[in-house]
Amino acid sequence: MQELLGGKGANLAEMTNLGLPVPPGYIITTEACRYFLENNSYPQSFEEEHGTAIRQLENDMGKKFGDPADPLLVSVRSGAAVSMPGMMDTILNLGLNDESVEGLATKTQNPRFAYDAYRRFIQMFSNVVLGLDMEKFEHILEEAKKKRGYTQDTQLTAEDLKELIDMYKQIVMAETGQAFPSEPMRQLDLAILAVFGSWDNERAIKYRRINNIHGLLGTAVNVQAMVYGNMGETSGTGVAFTRNPSNGDREFFGEFLCNAQGEDVVAGIRTPNPIAELEQVMPEVYATLIQIKDQLEKHYADMQDIEFTIQEGRLFILQTRNGKRTARAALRIAIELVEEGLINKETAVMKVDPHALEQLLHPQLDPTAQKNVIARGLPASPGAATGKIVFTADEAVYEVEQGEKVILVRRETSPEDIHGMHVAEGILTSTGGMTSHAAVVARGMGKTCIAGCADLQIDAKAKTIKAHDQIYREGDILTLDGTSGEVIVGDVPKIESEISGDLQTILEWADDFREMHVRANADTPHDAEVARKFGAQGIGLCRTEHMFFDESRIDIMRKVIVSTDEKTRRAYLEELLPFQKEDFAGLFKVMAGHPVTIRLLDPPLHEFLPNSDAKILELAEGMGMTFQELKTITENLHEVNPMLGHRGCRLGITYPEIYEMQVRAITEAAIEVSKHGETAIVEIEVPLIATASELKHVRQMIESVVSGYGSQINFIYKVGTMIEIPRACLTANEIAEHADFFSFGTNDLTQTTFGISRDDAGKFISYYVDHNIIERDPAETIDVDGVGKLMHIAVTLGRENKPDLEVGICGEQGGDPKSIEFCQKIGLNYVSCSPYRVPVARLAAAQAAIKLK
Ligand code: PEP
Ligand code: MG
Repeated sequence: MQELLGGKGANLAEMTNLGLPVPPGYIITTEACRYFLENNSYPQSFEEEHGTAIRQLENDMGKKFGDPADPLLVSVRSGAAVSMPGMMDTILNLGLNDESVEGLATKTQNPRFAYDAYRRFIQMFSNVVLGLDMEKFEHILEEAKKKRGYTQDTQLTAEDLKELIDMYKQIVMAETGQAFPSEPMRQLDLAILAVFGSWDNERAIKYRRINNIHGLLGTAVNVQAMVYGNMGETSGTGVAFTRNPSNGDREFFGEFLCNAQGEDVVAGIRTPNPIAELEQVMPEVYATLIQIKDQLEKHYADMQDIEFTIQEGRLFILQTRNGKRTARAALRIAIELVEEGLINKETAVMKVDPHALEQLLHPQLDPTAQKNVIARGLPASPGAATGKIVFTADEAVYEVEQGEKVILVRRETSPEDIHGMHVAEGILTSTGGMTSHAAVVARGMGKTCIAGCADLQIDAKAKTIKAHDQIYREGDILTLDGTSGEVIVGDVPKIESEISGDLQTILEWADDFREMHVRANADTPHDAEVARKFGAQGIGLCRTEHMFFDESRIDIMRKVIVSTDEKTRRAYLEELLPFQKEDFAGLFKVMAGHPVTIRLLDPPLHEFLPNSDAKILELAEGMGMTFQELKTITENLHEVNPMLGHRGCRLGITYPEIYEMQVRAITEAAIEVSKHGETAIVEIEVPLIATASELKHVRQMIESVVSGYGSQINFIYKVGTMIEIPRACLTANEIAEHADFFSFGTNDLTQTTFGISRDDAGKFISYYVDHNIIERDPAETIDVDGVGKLMHIAVTLGRENKPDLEVGICGEQGGDPKSIEFCQKIGLNYVSCSPYRVPVARLAAAQAAIKLK
């Protein structure tokens, strides 16, 4: 019931049903939240139902709200259907006021505890509900400690705390003009409204955007009786994972703090103790905890992230959820759960987030490289990251906008830092454990992170880091090794990763479920080798114009473009032929036995024209022209809208000698490779086709060139087309007459369907996404309703004419899991994407097939 109760609420209810020790409480649903956000009032039956829930809770606990002798106190927590770590805030000890705090003190015979609870409550409530700055309260707390010579919060006595409480209340009065609300029901009302309101706060919106979370109702509100981890040395609180979330090892992993409450562990303010030490401190509690974690893991058949509190030797479970994990851990855990018989292979394949695999394919530090290690911290999230030191999230964003790579260095991170963490290469903190905010969020994002690096003294004001008497400043370069926890000064060479071990196992399982093939977009033999290593089953797109980006070749290409007569152009094309032939032969060799789709030239002219007077002069000299002559030619070639200009097959049709040369190069390369016993499977592809007649025309030309080689032809070849113009989709039945295959160029198809230029979209698309005008950038994920509909029409019409027509996709969206699912739905034969995304696509294609089965 996650949708309705939120993840946290649903799991609390589930644990209660399992008979686990969960403090009693009730849940206000996400539907109520949605209703409130839309109508600014509660649903009609709310008041009555809420009253019943409170009475029930009072009965369960044998305590009453606001009872000055023995008050019922509650926590109020938000919880949406999808977990948003640290995005929305918790209020503890709600129900305390000047009278009931006395009752709590007497009842518990622990005045210090009671006043500490009250202090915390005022501070949290003022911050979360009344919107006051936490700093003000922290400052007073620090001053109070300093004045008395204390180093720990726990040294504050009941009398000290009473004084603090008075000062806190004065701040509230001064800042809001009103006394701190003392009536428990009023406190509760305000807290519920604040949780509802937090759904639309900036942090929550940002988190949903970064993580592509759409279509949820809102947040539920969990109201739960309080239990206390700060009632002395037999109490405590902790966070634990049933397995290691960093590497996936099967070990109980977590941390606890004695005599502490709720947020102390996650906030990273005190450095907690490893969970194993709980066995010495409270052996019985530890044994129960072990038993419960095993039960929860079995029940949910997944690694759990558990929050618990011990109140005077009694264990309570406050939360369980599927734990966030690194990609490496995700693989390990999925495989072990299969080995342990808890899940089958299909479920295991479904459990791994395909996006997360990109993390594993990130480069690692070269083990043979020299490195100057300046400190060691906790290896909180693996990978290798290098960048300039920055001390705030805003600086991180600023520097990245300037094209820099950064390492975000903080004493500890908080939800306010999310935007900086998102753009940083890596995150480094000096306090906090493996479950601190920085660690959890970094793992979720797949960012390298070293946490709790106590060797470092970070002075964010002075913008310096001190490590063993050395000072490092903002802008200095650091490298983090998130696998070892080493902080290294300077850049360290990295090596490419490869597929082995657990990744290989999961991908092999995925391949068994997968129906679509996965190919790669590769323009050079080197790219093709990387693609093969990652499991590509062919090349779905070789952009031949990219073969000319090389400095030694681009000039010849430029000369082809600016030639004014066919004879000159042919002469320069002859110069290009050997290069092309060699590249094609290289691709055929690497891809032996797998199809290679070679697209005939589709050069957006503006990318190739000489771009400076100096270049024009140099080129003119090489061509025996004057500067002015060439300048005029390039000016004439200038297009108002190059993306919709003299591109693709339009160029090939008007200057047939260009495609002729390319087809010769392809044919000769294939003949040569086949002579050496390799199988070349060649797919010649025509770009930017809008009409069947264009394709018919180009196809005839291709066939006449190939047939010129007569009996030498010793390889298989097909002729097909990109489908990247709406008109081609709508007339796909006619186009299929002349095509052996279709491949969706969804980059151009998106640009032409939306009428949004690929080169200019950046200026406004993110605004659209931020303001919910569109859900996602259609350049990243196929716009199913528009572009997708055209694709569906094209597949249907094409196969009406040719039932066996091979259809694939090679636009950027071909490596995007959501788009891959759509491709499976409309029956594509393959997806093609950049080499590094091939493993992602293999897994995503398997998941799509399983889902649609
Ligand atoms: C496309 O348009 O989707 C495509 C793959 O071609 P290009 O990006 O080269 O235009
Ligand atoms: Mg295109």
